[in-house]
Amino acid sequence: MDNLRMEGKVVLVTGVANQRSIAWAIAQALHAAGATPVFTYQSERLQKGVEELAGSIGSDHVMPCDVTNEEEVAAVARSIEERHGRLHGLVHSIAFANREDLAGEYLDTSPEGYRTAQDVSAYSLVTLCRYAAPLLAAEGGSVVALTYLGSVRVVPHYNVMGIAKASLEASIRYLAYDLGPKKIRVNGVSAGPIKTLSSRVIAGFNDMLEHIEARAPLRRNVETSEVASATAFLLSDLASGITGEILYVDAGYHVMGM
Ligand code: NAD
Repeated sequence: MDNLRMEGKVVLVTGVANQRSIAWAIAQALHAAGATPVFTYQSERLQKGVEELAGSIGSDHVMPCDVTNEEEVAAVARSIEERHGRLHGLVHSIAFANREDLAGEYLDTSPEGYRTAQDVSAYSLVTLCRYAAPLLAAEGGSVVALTYLGSVRVVPHYNVMGIAKASLEASIRYLAYDLGPKKIRVNGVSAGPIKTLSSRVIAGFNDMLEHIEARAPLRRNVETSEVASATAFLLSDLASGITGEILYVDAGYHVMGM
């Protein structure tokens, strides 16, 4: 990370649930690059764990934020403005779908299940960007959202989450256009499968890991740290000319035809 100079950069990292979270690896990469990560947690249940992780890299700026609660998102923006006066980066590492919608057939998705996946996993990027934009515009900024190949290819059992990720990726492009004049870049990192709290809920997840190990150009799965360093790159000035892009960090699996 020595070549990523992010000293003095304040980056809001959403989506840390535990030490396996991709967002936690991103926060560590940002810290190593000299940035100041600030954290949110979804619910009280996660507060202590996130505070401990943040504390281990010297951060005490940890705020509650359920992304479906606009008042909490607004409070996060106010708190960052009070403590830092500006923001340079935003990491969206949040997704949720009901367990029953991540097994069986997409055809059976209920309207509520569809809305929940879209609200939490895709629309939340719009809400977060709306509140963060005035802070990100102060000195120019970068937004990165985590996505997955199931947005553009059929991955059995990923179902409603694939449709939510397709919305997320389209949102990335439209937000890149809206926020470009404010010197805010918006990109996505499409990560290969990694064992975390959320991914374990997807039916057949271990089979997916084996399938990729056998077929990806690199003949292996990716490490969380590799997803984190690509995210840190997009957040840094090294990526100053890149916006509206989806960067695959998946050992090359997405290029395969079969
Ligand atoms: P994770 O369970 O550690 O993180 C998911 C986070 O979403 C949790 O911190 C959870 O608290 C948060 N969240 C859910 N609902 C929320 C809400 N209403 N408000 C605020 N936060 C909420 O799992 P992860 O695998 O690190 O997932 C992070 C991101 O990476 C997700 O967008 C996921 O789709 C994406 N991703 C994961 C993989 C993988 O295989 N693990 C692959 C590609 C992309």
